[in-house]
Amino acid sequence: MEENYRQTKGRIFNIQKFSIHDGPGIRTIVFLKGCLLRCRWCCNPESQEFGIQTMMENGKPKVVGRDVTVDEVMEEIVKDMPYYRRSGGGVTLSGGESLLQPEFAAALLRACQDYGLHTAIESTACAKWESVEQLLPYLDLYLMDIKHMDSAKHKAFTGQPNERILENARKVAQSHTELIIRTPVIPTFNDTKEEIAGIAAFAKTLPGVRQMHILPYHRLGQDKYTGLGRTYEMAHIEPPSQEHMEELLAAVNAAGLKGQIGG
Ligand code: SF4
Repeated sequence: MEENYRQTKGRIFNIQKFSIHDGPGIRTIVFLKGCLLRCRWCCNPESQEFGIQTMMENGKPKVVGRDVTVDEVMEEIVKDMPYYRRSGGGVTLSGGESLLQPEFAAALLRACQDYGLHTAIESTACAKWESVEQLLPYLDLYLMDIKHMDSAKHKAFTGQPNERILENARKVAQSHTELIIRTPVIPTFNDTKEEIAGIAAFAKTLPGVRQMHILPYHRLGQDKYTGLGRTYEMAHIEPPSQEHMEELLAAVNAAGLKGQIGG
């Protein structure tokens, strides 16, 4: 990586501070723009297109996406340094999919590590292995979404098959980066005990993987689809009950993993 890596440019659409999800401690989450998938339930539809968009929000147009350097993002991140230090927190890259901007993501993670911050990405790993590999030296924790073991069903609901994702999961598991598997629980897609147990069984085969998070479907992103002039296809789908999530959690634990509801 070039010595002036902190001038690397990327495209983000949000910086969320004081998060207690997506990694240990208090964190800043940087949302990168662009994703190869089109999950029907995506709660950040404004993340999917790489292009800068206008979205209506509370009746007003809002520009979604801006180009920034690593240095500019770091200026925001370092403001909360005392909170990261006290809580063992750090920075998580989310999206969208960080792997579609590998140079920027790697440079940003490297800058965070230069400050001694814990680094994580929340990613579905649907990208070339070379992109994943670029990030790993600067990454403490990979929160990897595995949504379904059946590639045809995966493609029907997300627009992409799952083979590359599973292959990347196997390779990340061989690295020094901690890997936690995450599965959004989506009724009509993957919410049966068998489907969750299938993902857990795969996760269990990955060396070093001990945890799996199951994240209940919610409809919080619905208004954003309207704001983008799109139709939300999941409006008729009810979130899973707590009781059902507990049953799925039991299936994860039965596979020999430490399960958790939520991230
Ligand atoms: S992978 Fe994540 S960001 Fe991409 S479409 Fe699916 S839910 Fe949205």
